[in-house]
Amino acid sequence: MLVRRLILVFLALFSLVVAPTVAEGQQSEQESRRVSDPPTLRRSLRGVLGGVPMTAADSMHQEIVRRLDFDSYKQLLLGLTQFGDREQGTPRNEAANDWIEDQLRSWGYETERVHYMFARRVGDVAEPREEVFATKVGASRPDEMFIISAHMDGRGGGEAANDDGSGTALVMEIARVLASSDIVSDRSLRFALWNNEETGLNGARAYVEQRAGMQGIEDPPGSGRYPEPTWIGMIQHDMMMWDHGNPVTHNQALDADVDVEFQLNSEMAAESAQLGLALINANRLHATDYPAVLSNAMSNTDSTPFMDLVAAVSLRENRRLYETGNRANPHWHQTTDLFETFSDADFMLGFNAAQTTLGAVAKLAGIRISR
Ligand SMILES: [Zn+2]
Repeated sequence: MLVRRLILVFLALFSLVVAPTVAEGQQSEQESRRVSDPPTLRRSLRGVLGGVPMTAADSMHQEIVRRLDFDSYKQLLLGLTQFGDREQGTPRNEAANDWIEDQLRSWGYETERVHYMFARRVGDVAEPREEVFATKVGASRPDEMFIISAHMDGRGGGEAANDDGSGTALVMEIARVLASSDIVSDRSLRFALWNNEETGLNGARAYVEQRAGMQGIEDPPGSGRYPEPTWIGMIQHDMMMWDHGNPVTHNQALDADVDVEFQLNSEMAAESAQLGLALINANRLHATDYPAVLSNAMSNTDSTPFMDLVAAVSLRENRRLYETGNRANPHWHQTTDLFETFSDADFMLGFNAAQTTLGAVAKLAGIRISR
């Protein structure tokens, strides 16, 4: 009798102690399921903003950013790598330009080409070169624009997947999303895929030389058309996927991030820093996996010819001078810069840079969904 009562008491105590543990067990199982969800769903917005609700405008920008598609980004990058390293002056480079133009047209854009002459050394006979751009014309301010860019040429004998297929595919994926007929932008947006970056920023320099003086001019007068809207900001993307620390490790580093850089020593340093900060803010609102940081030593990329004329920043996997320049990416300009070299964690860094740029531009240019 006493034994049975003791057993009952024991069972009652047991259920008190064990029951909550079982419930907690179920909860943590749910939580771990959440962690294994697709990367874009991993972070809770509440956590990112510290409990502050998004504004209605931010929520709409996020709806636009969520239209970026990770698989589409990878497919565009794969498409670019079919042309090898796309080195300037080769048939591979010309074929890649045609392919880029075909993609932009297939989404409904009218494309244009910049034609310029290139000579490797003084005294060499200059040869013709081309590069492609497409424009989404602003609905209420067609005379002002943001330039969103990357360089389509590469070198090294591989596929130039990271340098700079990763940036080119990013710009194209943003262009694809913004081509949608229900998306309206107040200001114009230009998607530029520079050529001849690797030979000294020649394609971007040619664009600045030919078109800086055309800014804001209505042509023909009274037409409402602006062949070169006034530049409001320029955002370059160059090497976007690989942040494996230095010394280099096998996997993406735990503190991998998107590096936004402006140039302290430029005429537009203050404006460029402000544009950079807008990107950092957009990253915090809209990027799903990787944070972004801002620094002031932008160099060796196509935003340089713009930096004294307009707010100009570059986005990269690493800071160019201190990290990339110190061999933080062993595939840089090598035969191993191949699509297959990179993992989804690497591709996702480029994709987060796309989220960052689109989120920032959505706010700055006044992009919205018209319902
Ligand atoms: Zn590059």
